[in-house]
Amino acid sequence: MRWITPEIEREMIAIRHDLHRHPELSWQEYRTADKVCQTLNNHGVTYTEGIAGVGVVADIPGKVNGPVIALRADMDALPVQEDTGLSFASENPGVMHACGHDGHTSILLGVAMALADAPEPPPLPIRLLFQPAEEVATGAKAMIREGTIKDVRMIFGAHLDCNHPVGKVVVNEGVVSASRDVFRIKVTGRGGHAARPQEAIDAIKIGIHIAQELQQLTSGAMTASNPAVVSVGCFQAGTAPNVIAETAVLEGTIYAQDQAERLRLNEAIRETAQTIAQQHNGIVSMEMEEGIPAIENKPEIVQLARETARSSLGKDSIVDTPVTNMGAEDFSCFLEHTEGVYVRIGSWNMAANIAPAHSSQFDFDEGALAVGAEYLTSLAIAAGKWVQERGF
Ligand SMILES: [Zn+2]
Ligand SMILES: [Zn+2]
Repeated sequence: MRWITPEIEREMIAIRHDLHRHPELSWQEYRTADKVCQTLNNHGVTYTEGIAGVGVVADIPGKVNGPVIALRADMDALPVQEDTGLSFASENPGVMHACGHDGHTSILLGVAMALADAPEPPPLPIRLLFQPAEEVATGAKAMIREGTIKDVRMIFGAHLDCNHPVGKVVVNEGVVSASRDVFRIKVTGRGGHAARPQEAIDAIKIGIHIAQELQQLTSGAMTASNPAVVSVGCFQAGTAPNVIAETAVLEGTIYAQDQAERLRLNEAIRETAQTIAQQHNGIVSMEMEEGIPAIENKPEIVQLARETARSSLGKDSIVDTPVTNMGAEDFSCFLEHTEGVYVRIGSWNMAANIAPAHSSQFDFDEGALAVGAEYLTSLAIAAGKWVQERGF
């Protein structure tokens, strides 16, 4: 380790325990933001708080006052009741850091400490973005609206990954996370007596038919190179066993790795719902929430990130794993405005059970904190040099 001293590592672990014990849901990260500010204060790093509500942005000046290299961490927890038995388990009922964002926040604070202690400033200014509300996919957009990446030339984000051991990182080219769009379909029929369905238009029947057809939309198009998923997660209808439902509401999510496929599915869902409703004399209306795009890692910046991993973590530190992640991550919103790369930091804990992210028993190996901070510090410095060498 060049940047992360044992003292910094100890402080990162203590911060992680504190954040884990006091998790906060999206847009409610007040205590978390306070902890971030306190730590930055203690280490003499300047910052702005209250960005988009609870976001915090720290700025480390560079040798020259050029374009900015940014690193981003998310701070929110999930509505999950923790069941890990950890000594620092959540004290906030029904809320848990089940995705490792407590780790991400600690890692970025470790970077802040390392840069604050550095013998000389980085080649270009480094900005640390502590972002709220990643899990609901609105935090990144809000941080962007507040102008936090206007002067950013390059940005990096990282997620802990319990599929790989500590010391390894995943730095892949191309699409590494899917786009995500949420849809809501309201079916309106005509209510009536359950004994005389011929007098009514059954919204449940129409809704079931639509839900079944939506599953078919991706089955034909799904290939290894172009995966996409349409899932209906909510179906609400009906008021009584002897009343035919007048309305039914279906809500679901589209995940796609390819932008053309994303648009095709958007359109196909609308058409499918309309056609089926018409066939049964019903009416549908459809709403789409403003979604988030896929993350696409650019080859030349991936090369920089890979070289940096080899020099800072060791030449065998990169895992070559095929890209199959169908989850979405709102880091993609930053990449609509600037260049960057999203990496994964190995955090597999051999001793613990390997509970998946978002589960009540999720945990990770805290050795990943020092590795993640070491890597991101090196990456921000290397990126500054890289940008400088190529001219601004
Ligand atoms: Zn998550
Ligand atoms: Zn996450």
